[in-house]
Amino acid sequence: MFPALEINLSAIEDNVRRVVEFCTSYGINVVGITKGACGEPKVAKAILRGGVQILGDSRIQNIIKMKESNVKAEFMLIRSPMISEVESVVKYAEYSLNSELKVLEQLSKASLEYGRRHKAIIMVDVGDRREGIMPNEFVPFLKEAKKLKGVEIVGVGTNLGCFGGVLPTPRNHEMLKKLTEKVKYILGIENPIISSGGTVVLNLLEREQSSYGINQLRIGEGILLGTDSTGNRTIPWLRQDTFTLKAEIVEVKWKPSLPEGPVGKDAFGNTPIFEDLGIRKRAILALGKQDTEISGLFPLYSGVKVLGGSSDHTIIDITESKVPLDVGDIVKFKLSYSAMLRGMTSPYVHKAYI
Ligand SMILES: *Cc1c(COP(=O)(O)O)cnc(C)c1O
Repeated sequence: MFPALEINLSAIEDNVRRVVEFCTSYGINVVGITKGACGEPKVAKAILRGGVQILGDSRIQNIIKMKESNVKAEFMLIRSPMISEVESVVKYAEYSLNSELKVLEQLSKASLEYGRRHKAIIMVDVGDRREGIMPNEFVPFLKEAKKLKGVEIVGVGTNLGCFGGVLPTPRNHEMLKKLTEKVKYILGIENPIISSGGTVVLNLLEREQSSYGINQLRIGEGILLGTDSTGNRTIPWLRQDTFTLKAEIVEVKWKPSLPEGPVGKDAFGNTPIFEDLGIRKRAILALGKQDTEISGLFPLYSGVKVLGGSSDHTIIDITESKVPLDVGDIVKFKLSYSAMLRGMTSPYVHKAYI
């Protein structure tokens, strides 16, 4: 069945094993982030086989799915909990990442009600400008959070490279280290969790050969794809043969590379721009924006170029393809993180595990 996403579980397991080995050498515990794979239990189990104990996901539904599929791990909700979901959060997740007192109060109430002991990591914004309290608000926040009976504050965390594309540096990690001293002092705990993420932080560790005091790293993209999109690199010591998208050709024709006639907007409101390359051999794939992110497709056959697409069609130029391609043939692609995410989310994409 096509389109299909082929998922190589042993390649993912290998990646986890390598990341765990690398991080352990710096005294860092790895949290395997499953959101890119929609919390798919088979992927989660492969991640656990690679040697992690904690799995993190941004959606409580994914965590529930994993728990119900007998995935034996501790779970961390990595998106700030919605107040409307705190009951599920304390029931299904051992940890959550937090930056709002209002939410912590509700988590506390819910965990007392259900007899749970929920562990919270306080997120600080050290520059990326997504979630997290500002460093100068940290101490008063922590003093308030400490009063809550139902949640245990176990550490401090940050996230990098997600919204602002901010890279991890010695400076933003020193900020985190300083806040850790406050955590130790205010909460009276010896070994708080100092959590950082995501994959882009691997680059800092490799370059600086220092952990900067962090003892937990949340990694998704690196283990799922072997790439680091914020750092704009393929991680040379990880495998990239983890996810492969396969799509079927439904038309092959020689056509002029320029459209003919007055040009308006494309199906998504953009004005398309084309280069005149003369008459080209083009193929249409039964694959579109409902299945994946077309700009995140990288053909595995040399000479094949992705031109673009719409909801249900992807156009590729096969004039220079080294492999002869015809209607009914299958074309394979490597994927960017968002192309993988969309593929995993789409009900139209068949999933095959090898
Ligand atoms: C997505 C996410 C991660 C993992 O990021 P990758 O770049 O995929 O490794 C870590 N922490 C949080 C809070 C996230 O949302």
